Amino acid sequence: MKTQPKPGVEVKDIPKPRSAPDEVLIKVKSAAICGSDLGIYHYTSAYSKMKLPVVLGHEFSGEIMELGKEVTGYEKGDRVLSESVKACGVCEFCKKGMSNLCDASTLFGIHTDGGFAEYITVPYKLLHKIPDGMTYDQAALVEPLSNAVHFVRDLTPFKIDDYVVVQGCGPIGLFSAQLFKLGGARVLVTGLSVDKLRFEIAEKLGLETLNIETESLEERVMKDTGGKGADTAFVAVGAPPAIKQATQIIKKRGLVTVIGIFGKEVQLDMTWVVRREIKIHGAYDAKPVNFPQSIDLINRGLVDVDSVLTHKLSLDQAEEGFKVALDKTGGKVVFNP
Ligand SMILES: [Zn+2]
Ligand SMILES: [Zn+2]
Repeated sequence: MKTQPKPGVEVKDIPKPRSAPDEVLIKVKSAAICGSDLGIYHYTSAYSKMKLPVVLGHEFSGEIMELGKEVTGYEKGDRVLSESVKACGVCEFCKKGMSNLCDASTLFGIHTDGGFAEYITVPYKLLHKIPDGMTYDQAALVEPLSNAVHFVRDLTPFKIDDYVVVQGCGPIGLFSAQLFKLGGARVLVTGLSVDKLRFEIAEKLGLETLNIETESLEERVMKDTGGKGADTAFVAVGAPPAIKQATQIIKKRGLVTVIGIFGKEVQLDMTWVVRREIKIHGAYDAKPVNFPQSIDLINRGLVDVDSVLTHKLSLDQAEEGFKVALDKTGGKVVFNP
Protein backbone atom coordinates (compact mmCIF):
# COMPACT_ATOMS: atom_id res chain seq x y z
CA MET A 1 0.00 0.00 0.00
CA LYS A 2 0.84 3.63 -0.38
CA THR A 3 -0.20 5.20 2.91
CA GLN A 4 1.89 8.37 3.18
CA PRO A 5 2.46 11.27 0.75
CA LYS A 6 6.21 10.50 0.61
CA PRO A 7 8.50 7.86 -0.96
CA GLY A 8 7.98 4.22 0.01
CA VAL A 9 5.35 1.50 0.37
CA GLU A 10 3.93 -0.36 3.36
CA VAL A 11 2.57 -3.89 3.95
CA LYS A 12 -0.62 -3.75 6.04
CA ASP A 13 -3.55 -5.95 6.98
CA ILE A 14 -6.81 -4.51 5.69
CA PRO A 15 -10.37 -5.90 5.59
CA LYS A 16 -11.32 -8.19 2.70
CA PRO A 17 -13.12 -6.01 0.11
CA ARG A 18 -16.82 -6.56 -0.75
CA SER A 19 -17.97 -6.65 -4.33
CA ALA A 20 -20.69 -4.29 -5.64
CA PRO A 21 -23.60 -5.80 -7.66
CA ASP A 22 -21.69 -5.37 -10.95
CA GLU A 23 -18.37 -6.63 -9.54
CA VAL A 24 -16.64 -9.91 -8.83
CA LEU A 25 -14.37 -10.70 -5.90
CA ILE A 26 -11.08 -12.07 -7.17
CA LYS A 27 -8.46 -14.04 -5.26
CA VAL A 28 -5.30 -12.53 -6.73
CA LYS A 29 -2.83 -15.13 -8.00
CA SER A 30 -0.30 -12.87 -9.69
CA ALA A 31 0.23 -9.09 -9.78
CA ALA A 32 3.11 -7.33 -11.49
CA ILE A 33 5.03 -4.15 -10.63
CA CYS A 34 4.75 -1.54 -13.39
CA GLY A 35 7.08 1.37 -14.14
CA SER A 36 4.27 3.65 -13.03
CA ASP A 37 4.26 1.94 -9.62
CA LEU A 38 7.87 3.14 -9.28
CA GLY A 39 6.74 6.72 -9.89
CA ILE A 40 4.12 6.13 -7.21
CA TYR A 41 6.77 4.65 -4.91
CA HIS A 42 8.87 7.79 -5.32
CA TYR A 43 5.71 9.93 -5.15
CA THR A 44 6.84 12.02 -8.13
CA SER A 45 4.83 15.04 -9.32
CA ALA A 46 3.00 12.86 -11.89
CA TYR A 47 1.32 10.99 -9.00
CA SER A 48 1.19 13.55 -6.17
CA LYS A 49 -2.57 14.03 -6.63
CA MET A 50 -3.46 10.39 -5.87
CA LYS A 51 -5.78 9.62 -2.96
CA LEU A 52 -4.19 7.81 -0.02
CA PRO A 53 -4.20 5.21 1.42
CA VAL A 54 -4.49 2.90 -1.59
CA VAL A 55 -3.40 -0.64 -2.47
CA LEU A 56 -1.09 -0.45 -5.51
CA GLY A 57 -1.04 -2.70 -8.58
CA HIS A 58 -3.01 -2.59 -11.84
CA GLU A 59 -1.53 -5.63 -13.63
CA PHE A 60 -3.12 -8.70 -12.07
CA SER A 61 -4.85 -12.02 -12.58
CA GLY A 62 -6.71 -14.41 -10.33
CA GLU A 63 -9.67 -16.64 -9.63
CA ILE A 64 -13.27 -15.49 -9.18
CA MET A 65 -14.49 -16.20 -5.64
CA GLU A 66 -17.83 -14.32 -5.53
CA LEU A 67 -20.14 -12.71 -8.08
CA GLY A 68 -22.34 -9.65 -7.62
CA LYS A 69 -25.97 -10.23 -8.60
CA GLU A 70 -25.75 -8.23 -11.87
CA VAL A 71 -22.74 -10.19 -13.15
CA THR A 72 -23.35 -12.35 -16.21
CA GLY A 73 -21.07 -14.56 -18.28
CA TYR A 74 -18.78 -15.57 -15.42
CA GLU A 75 -18.80 -18.29 -12.79
CA LYS A 76 -17.12 -18.91 -9.47
CA GLY A 77 -13.71 -20.49 -10.12
CA ASP A 78 -13.19 -18.77 -13.49
CA ARG A 79 -9.58 -17.73 -14.17
CA VAL A 80 -9.53 -14.06 -15.19
CA LEU A 81 -7.40 -11.00 -15.77
CA SER A 82 -8.56 -7.40 -15.73
CA GLU A 83 -8.17 -4.19 -17.66
CA SER A 84 -6.65 -1.43 -15.54
CA VAL A 85 -8.86 1.54 -16.50
CA LYS A 86 -12.32 1.96 -15.02
CA ALA A 87 -13.80 4.28 -17.64
CA CYS A 88 -17.06 6.28 -17.68
CA GLY A 89 -18.36 4.52 -20.79
CA VAL A 90 -20.21 7.60 -22.09
CA CYS A 91 -17.60 10.23 -23.03
CA GLU A 92 -16.45 10.83 -26.61
CA PHE A 93 -13.38 8.62 -26.21
CA CYS A 94 -15.12 5.76 -24.42
CA LYS A 95 -17.68 5.68 -27.23
CA LYS A 96 -14.83 5.27 -29.73
CA GLY A 97 -13.33 2.37 -27.76
CA MET A 98 -10.53 4.51 -26.33
CA SER A 99 -11.15 4.17 -22.60
CA ASN A 100 -7.44 4.94 -22.08
CA LEU A 101 -8.32 8.57 -22.94
CA CYS A 102 -11.59 8.68 -20.95
CA ASP A 103 -12.42 12.10 -19.50
CA ALA A 104 -13.46 10.63 -16.16
CA SER A 105 -11.60 7.35 -15.64
CA THR A 106 -10.17 5.89 -12.48
CA LEU A 107 -7.28 3.45 -12.32
CA PHE A 108 -6.68 0.46 -10.08
CA GLY A 109 -3.77 1.11 -7.75
CA ILE A 110 -4.04 4.90 -8.05
CA HIS A 111 -7.66 5.92 -7.46
CA THR A 112 -9.04 2.65 -6.08
CA ASP A 113 -7.43 -0.37 -4.42
CA GLY A 114 -5.29 -2.45 -6.78
CA GLY A 115 -3.96 -5.97 -7.12
CA PHE A 116 -1.08 -6.09 -4.61
CA ALA A 117 -3.40 -7.84 -2.15
CA GLU A 118 -4.96 -11.23 -1.53
CA TYR A 119 -8.34 -10.00 -2.81
CA ILE A 120 -9.62 -7.33 -5.16
CA THR A 121 -13.07 -6.38 -6.45
CA VAL A 122 -13.39 -5.69 -10.19
CA PRO A 123 -16.33 -4.62 -12.43
CA TYR A 124 -17.09 -7.72 -14.50
CA LYS A 125 -17.07 -5.69 -17.73
CA LEU A 126 -13.30 -5.23 -17.34
CA LEU A 127 -12.56 -8.96 -17.13
CA HIS A 128 -11.06 -11.28 -19.72
CA LYS A 129 -10.99 -15.06 -19.31
CA ILE A 130 -7.56 -16.69 -19.20
CA PRO A 131 -7.23 -19.45 -21.82
CA ASP A 132 -6.31 -22.97 -20.71
CA GLY A 133 -2.55 -23.39 -20.75
CA MET A 134 -1.83 -19.75 -19.92
CA THR A 135 -0.36 -19.27 -16.44
CA TYR A 136 -1.56 -16.67 -13.94
CA ASP A 137 1.84 -14.96 -14.21
CA GLN A 138 1.53 -14.72 -18.00
CA ALA A 139 -2.03 -13.44 -17.53
CA ALA A 140 -0.82 -10.69 -15.18
CA LEU A 141 1.50 -9.52 -17.96
CA VAL A 142 -1.33 -9.17 -20.48
CA GLU A 143 -2.06 -5.62 -19.21
CA PRO A 144 1.47 -4.29 -19.83
CA LEU A 145 1.67 -6.20 -23.12
CA SER A 146 -1.63 -4.57 -24.11
CA ASN A 147 0.01 -1.20 -23.56
CA ALA A 148 2.87 -2.20 -25.86
CA VAL A 149 0.38 -3.50 -28.45
CA HIS A 150 -1.46 -0.16 -28.38
CA PHE A 151 1.79 1.83 -28.69
CA VAL A 152 3.20 -0.26 -31.52
CA ARG A 153 0.24 -1.73 -33.40
CA ASP A 154 -2.18 1.20 -33.11
CA LEU A 155 0.09 4.23 -32.97
CA THR A 156 3.49 3.55 -34.56
CA PRO A 157 3.14 2.61 -38.23
CA PHE A 158 6.27 0.85 -39.56
CA LYS A 159 7.32 -1.37 -42.42
CA ILE A 160 9.10 -4.73 -42.64
CA ASP A 161 12.60 -3.36 -43.27
CA ASP A 162 12.36 -0.27 -41.04
CA TYR A 163 15.08 0.54 -38.54
CA VAL A 164 13.55 1.07 -35.10
CA VAL A 165 15.40 2.24 -31.98
CA VAL A 166 13.70 1.33 -28.71
CA GLN A 167 15.18 3.60 -26.05
CA GLY A 168 14.93 1.79 -22.74
CA CYS A 169 14.95 -1.91 -21.97
CA GLY A 170 12.42 -2.08 -19.16
CA PRO A 171 9.55 -4.54 -19.56
CA ILE A 172 7.49 -2.25 -21.85
CA GLY A 173 10.57 -1.58 -23.96
CA LEU A 174 11.22 -5.32 -24.26
CA PHE A 175 7.59 -6.12 -25.10
CA SER A 176 7.44 -3.33 -27.69
CA ALA A 177 10.78 -4.34 -29.21
CA GLN A 178 9.44 -7.88 -29.68
CA LEU A 179 6.39 -6.48 -31.49
CA PHE A 180 8.55 -4.38 -33.85
CA LYS A 181 10.69 -7.45 -34.55
CA LEU A 182 7.57 -9.54 -35.11
CA GLY A 183 6.55 -6.99 -37.75
CA GLY A 184 9.88 -7.42 -39.53
CA ALA A 185 11.71 -4.30 -38.39
CA ARG A 186 15.37 -4.22 -37.47
CA VAL A 187 15.33 -3.30 -33.78
CA LEU A 188 18.06 -1.78 -31.65
CA VAL A 189 17.33 -1.65 -27.90
CA THR A 190 19.26 0.85 -25.78
CA GLY A 191 19.99 0.99 -22.07
CA LEU A 192 22.55 1.95 -19.46
CA SER A 193 25.30 -0.01 -17.69
CA VAL A 194 22.83 -0.73 -14.88
CA ASP A 195 20.63 -2.64 -17.37
CA LYS A 196 23.08 -5.58 -17.64
CA LEU A 197 20.46 -8.25 -16.92
CA ARG A 198 17.89 -6.56 -19.15
CA PHE A 199 20.42 -6.58 -22.01
CA GLU A 200 20.82 -10.33 -21.46
CA ILE A 201 17.03 -10.76 -21.74
CA ALA A 202 16.96 -8.61 -24.89
CA GLU A 203 19.73 -10.67 -26.47
CA LYS A 204 17.92 -13.89 -25.53
CA LEU A 205 14.91 -12.46 -27.37
CA GLY A 206 17.07 -11.96 -30.45
CA LEU A 207 17.28 -8.17 -30.17
CA GLU A 208 20.34 -6.00 -30.85
CA THR A 209 21.43 -3.89 -27.86
CA LEU A 210 23.53 -0.81 -27.20
CA ASN A 211 24.75 0.67 -23.92
CA ILE A 212 24.51 4.45 -24.39
CA GLU A 213 27.00 5.01 -21.56
CA THR A 214 29.80 3.18 -23.32
CA GLU A 215 28.90 3.61 -27.01
CA SER A 216 27.53 6.46 -29.11
CA LEU A 217 23.94 5.76 -30.15
CA GLU A 218 24.06 8.42 -32.84
CA GLU A 219 27.22 6.95 -34.41
CA ARG A 220 25.77 3.44 -34.34
CA VAL A 221 22.45 4.44 -35.91
CA MET A 222 24.11 6.56 -38.62
CA LYS A 223 26.50 3.70 -39.41
CA ASP A 224 23.66 1.15 -39.60
CA THR A 225 21.45 3.39 -41.77
CA GLY A 226 24.07 4.88 -44.08
CA GLY A 227 23.80 8.29 -42.42
CA LYS A 228 20.02 8.53 -42.95
CA GLY A 229 18.85 7.99 -39.39
CA ALA A 230 16.32 5.61 -37.85
CA ASP A 231 12.80 5.39 -39.26
CA THR A 232 11.32 5.31 -35.78
CA ALA A 233 12.47 6.08 -32.26
CA PHE A 234 10.40 4.63 -29.46
CA VAL A 235 11.08 6.36 -26.16
CA ALA A 236 10.33 3.83 -23.43
CA VAL A 237 12.07 5.72 -20.62
CA GLY A 238 11.09 8.78 -18.59
CA ALA A 239 14.51 10.43 -18.75
CA PRO A 240 14.28 13.91 -20.38
CA PRO A 241 17.58 13.61 -22.39
CA ALA A 242 16.12 10.58 -24.22
CA ILE A 243 13.69 12.81 -26.16
CA LYS A 244 16.46 15.04 -27.46
CA GLN A 245 18.48 11.95 -28.35
CA ALA A 246 15.49 10.54 -30.23
CA THR A 247 15.28 13.66 -32.40
CA GLN A 248 19.01 13.41 -33.16
CA ILE A 249 18.94 9.79 -34.38
CA ILE A 250 15.69 9.97 -36.34
CA LYS A 251 15.57 10.47 -40.12
CA LYS A 252 13.88 13.48 -41.72
CA ARG A 253 10.09 13.01 -41.47
CA GLY A 254 10.72 10.17 -39.00
CA LEU A 255 8.38 9.29 -36.16
CA VAL A 256 9.14 9.53 -32.44
CA THR A 257 6.69 7.69 -30.18
CA VAL A 258 6.96 8.71 -26.53
CA ILE A 259 5.56 6.46 -23.82
CA GLY A 260 7.75 7.39 -20.83
CA ILE A 261 6.22 9.26 -17.91
CA PHE A 262 8.47 12.21 -17.15
CA GLY A 263 9.09 13.56 -13.66
CA LYS A 264 9.90 16.98 -15.08
CA GLU A 265 9.55 19.11 -18.22
CA VAL A 266 11.63 18.25 -21.28
CA GLN A 267 13.87 20.67 -23.19
CA LEU A 268 14.00 20.28 -26.95
CA ASP A 269 15.58 22.05 -29.94
CA MET A 270 12.27 22.64 -31.71
CA THR A 271 13.83 24.34 -34.74
CA TRP A 272 15.73 21.11 -35.47
CA VAL A 273 12.43 19.20 -35.25
CA VAL A 274 10.66 21.73 -37.53
CA ARG A 275 13.33 21.84 -40.24
CA ARG A 276 13.50 18.05 -40.46
CA GLU A 277 9.71 17.59 -40.26
CA ILE A 278 10.09 15.13 -37.40
CA LYS A 279 6.85 13.88 -35.84
CA ILE A 280 6.70 13.45 -32.07
CA HIS A 281 3.64 11.99 -30.40
CA GLY A 282 2.59 10.49 -27.11
CA ALA A 283 1.08 7.04 -26.55
CA TYR A 284 -0.74 6.11 -23.37
CA ASP A 285 -2.13 2.96 -21.78
CA ALA A 286 -4.23 0.47 -23.77
CA LYS A 287 -7.63 0.20 -25.41
CA PRO A 288 -9.96 -2.65 -24.37
CA VAL A 289 -9.44 -4.28 -27.79
CA ASN A 290 -5.71 -4.62 -27.09
CA PHE A 291 -6.39 -7.19 -24.33
CA PRO A 292 -7.69 -10.04 -26.50
CA GLN A 293 -4.96 -9.18 -29.02
CA SER A 294 -2.31 -9.61 -26.30
CA ILE A 295 -3.83 -12.82 -24.97
CA ASP A 296 -3.67 -14.15 -28.52
CA LEU A 297 -0.04 -13.06 -29.02
CA ILE A 298 1.05 -14.90 -25.86
CA ASN A 299 -1.14 -17.91 -26.61
CA ARG A 300 0.31 -18.34 -30.10
CA GLY A 301 3.87 -18.02 -28.78
CA LEU A 302 4.52 -14.84 -30.79
CA VAL A 303 5.54 -12.73 -27.79
CA ASP A 304 7.70 -14.15 -25.02
CA VAL A 305 6.58 -12.70 -21.67
CA ASP A 306 8.17 -15.48 -19.60
CA SER A 307 11.73 -14.37 -20.40
CA VAL A 308 10.91 -10.85 -19.22
CA LEU A 309 9.57 -12.15 -15.88
CA THR A 310 12.55 -12.54 -13.54
CA HIS A 311 11.22 -12.33 -9.97
CA LYS A 312 8.31 -14.09 -8.23
CA LEU A 313 7.79 -12.87 -4.66
CA SER A 314 5.27 -12.88 -1.82
CA LEU A 315 3.50 -9.69 -0.69
CA ASP A 316 5.65 -9.67 2.45
CA GLN A 317 8.63 -9.19 0.13
CA ALA A 318 7.16 -5.92 -1.20
CA GLU A 319 10.22 -3.84 -0.32
CA GLU A 320 12.51 -6.38 -1.98
CA GLY A 321 10.34 -6.44 -5.11
CA PHE A 322 10.32 -2.67 -5.39
CA LYS A 323 14.07 -2.58 -4.81
CA VAL A 324 14.66 -4.96 -7.73
CA ALA A 325 12.42 -2.86 -9.98
CA LEU A 326 13.90 0.46 -8.81
CA ASP A 327 17.50 -0.75 -9.15
CA LYS A 328 16.69 -2.30 -12.58
CA THR A 329 18.33 -5.53 -11.48
CA GLY A 330 15.44 -7.55 -12.90
CA GLY A 331 12.85 -7.64 -15.63
CA LYS A 332 9.24 -7.90 -14.57
CA VAL A 333 8.61 -8.54 -10.87
CA VAL A 334 5.37 -10.27 -9.81
CA PHE A 335 3.83 -10.87 -6.42
CA ASN A 336 2.06 -14.17 -5.86
CA PRO A 337 -0.16 -13.42 -2.81
ZN1 LIG B 1 1.28 -0.70 -15.97
ZN1 LIG C 1 -15.14 7.95 -20.70
